[in-house]
Amino acid sequence: MATLNDPIETRLFINGEFRSSSASKTFGVVCPYTKEIVAQGMFEEADSKDVNDAVAAAHAASPAWRDLGTDKRGGYMRRLSQLILESNNELAKLETLSTGRPISQFFDAGIAAEYFAHFAGAGWSAQGTASLNTPDHLNLTVKQPYGVVALIIPWNFPLIMFAGKMAPALAAGNTVVLKSSEKAPLTSLYVAKLIEKAGFPPGVVNIISGFGDPAGAALASHMTVRCISFTGSSATGQKIQTAAAKSNLKHVHMELGGKSPAIIFEDADLEDAAAQTQFSIRFNSGQVCSANSRIYVHESVAEQFISMFRVNFTAVRLGDPLDPATSHGPQIDVLQYHRIKEYLAIGEKDGTLTLGGDANNGFFVRPTIFEGVAEDSRLMREEVFGPVVVINTFSTEAEAIEKANNSDFGLFAAVFTKALDRAIRLAKALDAGTVGVNCTSPANAKDASYGGMKMSGNGREGLLCSLDSFLETKSILIKTARL
Ligand code: NAD
Repeated sequence: MATLNDPIETRLFINGEFRSSSASKTFGVVCPYTKEIVAQGMFEEADSKDVNDAVAAAHAASPAWRDLGTDKRGGYMRRLSQLILESNNELAKLETLSTGRPISQFFDAGIAAEYFAHFAGAGWSAQGTASLNTPDHLNLTVKQPYGVVALIIPWNFPLIMFAGKMAPALAAGNTVVLKSSEKAPLTSLYVAKLIEKAGFPPGVVNIISGFGDPAGAALASHMTVRCISFTGSSATGQKIQTAAAKSNLKHVHMELGGKSPAIIFEDADLEDAAAQTQFSIRFNSGQVCSANSRIYVHESVAEQFISMFRVNFTAVRLGDPLDPATSHGPQIDVLQYHRIKEYLAIGEKDGTLTLGGDANNGFFVRPTIFEGVAEDSRLMREEVFGPVVVINTFSTEAEAIEKANNSDFGLFAAVFTKALDRAIRLAKALDAGTVGVNCTSPANAKDASYGGMKMSGNGREGLLCSLDSFLETKSILIKTARL
């Protein structure tokens, strides 16, 4: 067990105070490596009464926060950014304990701090337009905050998800209620303490822990919540959209699952393509929404590509995620582990297992390759969310596009080729919110928009897009008297 400087905060953060849940219910968080309850902490579980309290606090704080102006709101956010940076080591330990991602892969505090620092000044770009096109009128189109927004986040990158949604929502002038994942509430509550330290006015930020049902569902159907920003699975996204539609038709933006293809043409730099694509599916034990889980390689270079791909894929070190030498951690929990085992069995039925498989050690799954899997197999069509890749072949460009697009998802797609015209053709043809040409990692391009097509979602996030997602458009028509 890691030594933590501060005791773990386990209470709800509502109206600027840490408090117990109204029903006095608690839940445990299991460390995926030790399988023990993390630091014996039992987390307070929010129910609909706590959700109502959090939304009421956010609602009451809304007018003053909205009217505070960009500079003053930015001041709080800059202080928070600095506190997050100073807490890097503590946050790294907490995130590793609850998610099992190796601490060597933790870079999240820097990114979270950058989100708050960037959006601290970004409020100034919430600009509308003006026109004199209507006779005797000045038409103003302005952008204004929704009021209370709800943020619901998953467990795979809890701190980055927290900051990526919270920073633009606050900068836009909204007050927020954030629900963390029941599997990883630790860092959200740690940042709640930093929010208190940064002096944010009570009620501006409320953070609750708890399950999708009742806490998440209560937020999704709450009549005072005007906008909900959700990242998680497509199945949960459908429930949230339904709840929003049945309650007050709140705005819903969703960043959902993926089954992202990578296409490797015969002229590609095969070594680079192999290095990048293997990292994409191996990072965070494959628990990454944009991981390239389907690879289509041109049949003439398949053997060469696969042997290069296997090199790094086999060189992983499984172990204690808190050990800096560990490069491959366990899956998040027993449910996810069994889910992946089911897909391993499907892969053996519908294709050939050529590397890896169950590590038969706790929740660990080795980086795994299947080849020649039938395109209609569930392994090709459903998100596994584990370090499991399928490598299939193609012979023509049209076939590669057809196979890549034969998916309900459309989050990310990669194309590896040196031919510029082909890269452009593919970038246009592929159904994906982001297409990487000779690259897999959208995380490096901070000013790119990030989001999905089809069942991968309907929102766009990123340093340049997120602010707009938390603003509503209003027209103000001013009639001017004629002289
Ligand atoms: P999940 O859908 O199970 O849970 C996500 C969040 O939704 C959790 O906080 C959960 O408590 C809550 N929730 C569950 N049921 C709910 C309901 N009925 N109403 C309201 N909230 C509810 O997802 P997960 O297992 O935490 O995360 C993994 C998924 O997230 C994967 O599908 C992955 O692809 C996706 N993801 C997408 C992106 C992206 O940017 N597109 C990024 C990270 C993760």
